[in-house]
Amino acid sequence: VKALVYHARNDIRLEDFPEAVSLAGDEVRLKVKRAGICHTDYNEYRHGPLYVAASPHPRTGRSVPIVIGHEFSGEVVEAGAAVRRLKLGDRVAVNAVDSCRNCFYCRSGHEALCASAAYVGFSRDGGFAQSAVVPEACCHRLGDGVSFEAGALVEPLAVAVHAVRQAGVGIGCRAAIVGGGTVGLCTLQALRVAGARDVFVVEKSEAKRKFSEALGASAFINADQTDPVEAIRELTDGLGADVAFECVGTAGSMATAATVTRGAGTTCIVGVFPGDFEFDFNTFLSREKSIATSLAYSDEFPTVIKMLGDGRLKAEPLITRMIPLAQSLDQGLKQYETLAATNVRMLINMDA
Ligand SMILES: [Zn+2]
Ligand SMILES: [Zn+2]
Repeated sequence: VKALVYHARNDIRLEDFPEAVSLAGDEVRLKVKRAGICHTDYNEYRHGPLYVAASPHPRTGRSVPIVIGHEFSGEVVEAGAAVRRLKLGDRVAVNAVDSCRNCFYCRSGHEALCASAAYVGFSRDGGFAQSAVVPEACCHRLGDGVSFEAGALVEPLAVAVHAVRQAGVGIGCRAAIVGGGTVGLCTLQALRVAGARDVFVVEKSEAKRKFSEALGASAFINADQTDPVEAIRELTDGLGADVAFECVGTAGSMATAATVTRGAGTTCIVGVFPGDFEFDFNTFLSREKSIATSLAYSDEFPTVIKMLGDGRLKAEPLITRMIPLAQSLDQGLKQYETLAATNVRMLINMDA
């Protein structure tokens, strides 16, 4: 099958990749329909392998060259002998965390922390291909009203719903989001569903204003023009945000998120940092602020799919480009940085 295959840093190829001939009992083969290109994919391309398996993964045995792509939807076209829940023709979104389902972390709802978790698109072959083989347990049926396009956004929306749960957000809270990219805009929606009184989006790209406002932000703060700390203090009676979400993964955005959080409030880290940096933890200690962290997701897929179906969460406003697989390297990954300021989610349309 045609696929985007990770060989090494700066070496991703669009090429023919051998498909699994036979399925394990618990696996299904999907005809991939739509797949989202994520900042993580770009990071792997330019700075990886970070999560991409450079040496064989203990459970899957897979390593580079490997098919990337961890945000995708598809249709079941073949089922292993032990598959019971899914049937041919089912439309599904794929949970990228293929964990052991048996260890302490898996049994306590922390699948992303499982020591032998394999990530689809990193340590098992992913969705930037015409077809993909994944465990049945990773597949979640899309409701009738949920398109394949929306199906490709279930993964980042699950990240956001998980983050809002990790931060312990309550109804009536005043929240800030640092970073108005896909995860930030998904977090905005999740906060609205959770009953936030106000959501303030802090972002450097003015082009993200219209997305934030369309999805219900109380205020969009352009951090290049306005000091976000001052702006949020003014909007919260001098206090600061009850909770702030760091959705970028840089030292500067971490400092902003920590500073806009009010005393005794919570800063939730969602962005992934590319490396070490210095940080003054007195920012937290001197005001008794808490830190929450959020990695991937646990059982949020059915919640997200249900909320996409009834309109509480929206995927379509986040989709800014759709390209065929044949152009996914030249017009997709290679253009990612150039398009970053204006683009939200770019989808690969496998039917095109
Ligand atoms: Zn992603
Ligand atoms: Zn486990």
